[in-house]
Amino acid sequence: MISELEAGTYVLERCGVSDVIEASIADAVGHVLAAPVVAAEDVPPFANSAVDGYAVRAADVASTPTRLRVVAEVAAGWSTECEVGAGEAIRIMTGAPMPAGADAVVMVEDTERDGDEVVVNASVRAGSSVRAVGEDVPAGTQVFPSGTVVRPAVAGVLASLNARRVSVFRTPRVAVLSTGDELVNDGSPLRPGQIRESNKTMLLPLVAEAGCDAIDLGVVRDDEDALESVLRDAAAQYDAIVTSGGVSMGEYDVVKAVLSRIADMRWMQIAIKPAKPFAFGLLAAGDRRTPVFGLPGNPVSSFVSFELFARPALRKMSGHSQLERTYVEAIADEGLRRRPDGKTHYMRVAGRFADDGRYHVVSVGAQGSHQLAATSMADAIAIVPDGDGIPPGDPVTTMLLSIA
Ligand code: AMP
Ligand code: MG
Repeated sequence: MISELEAGTYVLERCGVSDVIEASIADAVGHVLAAPVVAAEDVPPFANSAVDGYAVRAADVASTPTRLRVVAEVAAGWSTECEVGAGEAIRIMTGAPMPAGADAVVMVEDTERDGDEVVVNASVRAGSSVRAVGEDVPAGTQVFPSGTVVRPAVAGVLASLNARRVSVFRTPRVAVLSTGDELVNDGSPLRPGQIRESNKTMLLPLVAEAGCDAIDLGVVRDDEDALESVLRDAAAQYDAIVTSGGVSMGEYDVVKAVLSRIADMRWMQIAIKPAKPFAFGLLAAGDRRTPVFGLPGNPVSSFVSFELFARPALRKMSGHSQLERTYVEAIADEGLRRRPDGKTHYMRVAGRFADDGRYHVVSVGAQGSHQLAATSMADAIAIVPDGDGIPPGDPVTTMLLSIA
């Protein structure tokens, strides 16, 4: 058996980063920038008012109350040639350009209008309530380094800079398939020995959540020829392949039989529970070498295996620098019991941040590798080292499933 670290490192070393494309801002959302973005424009592009009020010369309102003559008004989107002279003010709205001569804005709440005059009741310093040119982003500066994830607010900033097209890593297209003669996925009544397919249905959105386009290749029968042709086609068309089932020691583990023959695979036994069997390799198609993740068939093993080995690799392919989930030292509110067996146990837990600022976890209950219902309620995975488990109240390293 090898360690989880060795398996993870082996996989990551063999997965390359996707190619770079130019994308519109809308298309770039969720992607990772492949080149830095330098601001071509100042944001804001001109000095403007931060409030609704009166543009003034700060020196004119040094002692208050004082009266100024209102000579014009200016709103957002207007341009103004008017100037504020000594003893004068211009009525100004939020976002409107600062008129020449004025160096501050008095908010309307600190004024009283009296015909074509305004009584100013509060002094302001020069620059007060004025947004300076380039105060958000000065032109010529790097606003985002490469590696930045284009989140919604980043998209907003790109628009504010007029960076209409940006370089991002292309979304990897990842094919997902299940294998097994027992699997039914069309809703038909189960015949003896059959079960409902669940892994592919879970893995497709896991792949999407990892930032990839997930392609459903369906359920493939335990038939070597059928599987070989599906895998070869997929290797030629897609950036990675995720299979579930057929990677252990059984007589009908066709994934193992086929991939051993046609791909450069490593069949691993990892010192973890669940998800001990796992396979990874590269399947050549023309001049491509497509990564193949051979996840175990037991649904919980499939889930844990995806989280530990496939997800970080898919994140690397999409250009992310943060590959791992977030780990916290949690408190086990109940004991997380286990028996010594030479393996690290990845126990699925429900967790919450409590008033003490700590993350507290309890087992989701059933920990069997076929019991996906309990695992589906997990917020995190507690990493329980070999031994007798974690006594109640003790700390345990925990991988959060909800945070990148
Ligand atoms: P295998 O690795 O193919 O031997 O499968 C191990 C166990 O997982 C068996 O009980 C299979 O029936 C089950 N299994 C395999 N694939 C799936 C799937 N896609 N959905 C639900 N159960 C599965
Ligand atoms: Mg099978």
